Amino acid sequence: MRIEILTIFPEVCEAVLSHSMVGRARRQGLVQIGTRDIRAYTNNKHRRVDDAPYGGGFGLIMQCQPIADAFRALCEEWGGRPHLIYLSPQGKTLTQRRAAELSQMPSLALLCGHYEGVDERVLEALVDEEISVGDYVLTGGELPALVLTDCIVRLLPGVLAADAAFMGESHWQGLLEHPQYTRPALWEGRAVPDVLLGGNHALQEQWRRAQSLERTRRKRPELLEGRAEERLE
Ligand code: SAM
Repeated sequence: MRIEILTIFPEVCEAVLSHSMVGRARRQGLVQIGTRDIRAYTNNKHRRVDDAPYGGGFGLIMQCQPIADAFRALCEEWGGRPHLIYLSPQGKTLTQRRAAELSQMPSLALLCGHYEGVDERVLEALVDEEISVGDYVLTGGELPALVLTDCIVRLLPGVLAADAAFMGESHWQGLLEHPQYTRPALWEGRAVPDVLLGGNHALQEQWRRAQSLERTRRKRPELLEGRAEERLE
């Protein structure tokens, strides 16, 4: 899979993308991730990418031309058009399900806005989908693009130690994950549940399922709405 982040802060993205699991996946060739500096595509000598909004109002708006040229150059280099996602507080909120669907795509381009946002015309002309990381407003699209990239990359084959590792995790099947423990078995008077110390795998599986349901009901009851079977269980 290929992902390209279109941004005016490529170095911010690179700093994050070079580390941890995503950095390792890149080095192992499990995913190709690049950053493209939108500013490099400006056609004015001051390399400005923004201007004041028509009709007045606060702040600056990112202009169409550098964004469109950056994306078109990418399409030309790749010999095809990647699915273009604009990270936006107005988009659909990112879910594990959507990340899993996107992880099946061969190529993605992620557009990061800044300032007061992006000229609507370039969004209309080029963007396939808008994704939000939550109902709040950040200063730029870089953190959301990195969140989305991280979420997708860990679902790619070979990235996690076992491909099934993410399947029991929170949100994979709409539930939260059961609690987890590691050594020591007793810490400051708090013991690991007995069932996990024994060797009865069937019982442990039952315990994990019950804990997963119980904590979903307690922490995020809305996740069980419309899931009659799990509510009964
Ligand atoms: N004026 C815009 C509005 O009210 O919808 C918000 C612009 S925001 C200050 C600047 C940029 O940050 C956006 O263009 C977008 O790329 C990014 N951004 C901010 N909040 C976001 C969120 N919750 N999810 C995804 N991207 C976000």
